[in-house]
Amino acid sequence: MMPSLKIDEHIFTILIEEKRIQETVKRLGQQIADDYRGRKPILTGILNGSFLFIADLVRAIDIYEAEIDFLKIGSYGDHMLSSGTITLDKDVSADIRGRHVIVIEDIVDSGLSVTFIRNHLMAKEPASLEFASLLVKKQKAKIDFPIKYVGFEIGNEFVIGYGLDYKQQYRHLRDIYVTKS
Ligand code: 5GP
Ligand code: MG
Repeated sequence: MMPSLKIDEHIFTILIEEKRIQETVKRLGQQIADDYRGRKPILTGILNGSFLFIADLVRAIDIYEAEIDFLKIGSYGDHMLSSGTITLDKDVSADIRGRHVIVIEDIVDSGLSVTFIRNHLMAKEPASLEFASLLVKKQKAKIDFPIKYVGFEIGNEFVIGYGLDYKQQYRHLRDIYVTKS
């Protein structure tokens, strides 16, 4: 653990330590296991940011029937602001019609990405569709459906680590860091 990181002109400090992340992921995993026992859910990770979260989450879900799939979306614009243009870079591989799908996201910021994904996946007629996000920027997120599994609510700040990038780097950090500026 590094107390702070200087990257370009930004100073990043620890917002959520590894231990708290791991405790929270365990709690979410147990909750999902309780809710889905006997239902063979498909956990659908949104690439790239959710790769560590889904890896830890699936190991915290104590049911053998859970499947893993991935979807990749892209958005254009500034690297620290989400943009309005979302593209589907990779669709799910599984046939999700009639299946119980849980979308696994790293962070909900404006809510545009999860709204896009929800519309896209609902058209495939899953039996159910829920969302899990490690982080949610509550004041900013504009969504008209619930995120059922939320790890942490954070302010309107830019964070990196535990899957989240700064210019495609720093995803490997075990703690989550935030910029002061
Ligand atoms: P939204 O569409 O909800 O505005 O943004 C969601 C996506 O933008 C996330 O999946 C993530 O890839 C990126 N994003 C939003 N906020 C942050 C942040 O604070 N840090 C990083 N690294 N990415 C973010
Ligand atoms: Mg993402």
